[in-house]
Amino acid sequence: MSDNKWWEEIQNEKYDLPVDYDKLGWFERRAVREQYVIEQQNMCFYCDERLDQEAPERIREMRIDLDLFPPNFLKHPIHLQHCHKTGMTEGAVHCHCNAVMWQYEGR
Ligand SMILES: [Zn+2]
Repeated sequence: MSDNKWWEEIQNEKYDLPVDYDKLGWFERRAVREQYVIEQQNMCFYCDERLDQEAPERIREMRIDLDLFPPNFLKHPIHLQHCHKTGMTEGAVHCHCNAVMWQYEGR
């Protein structure tokens, strides 16, 4: 078994989505997020715009109260959205979309 084998296996692991967000470790959250990005064909779950670009103007110009969020919340461009009622993952979103969903819609 080569040194990189475990890494490749983790990389190729596919999750049966959705999954319970609270049961995921940070590494799994990253993998699940990446899987959503691929399955959504790089389009944001919330605004339906490309995830490798910033959220659209209409989202970015909405006022976000950064006090509601952990520090560096907007540092990571793509977030894994999950339902706060069921704890189940919903999809990959722009960080700004994630902020808007939470602040304005309580999702
Ligand atoms: Zn978006």
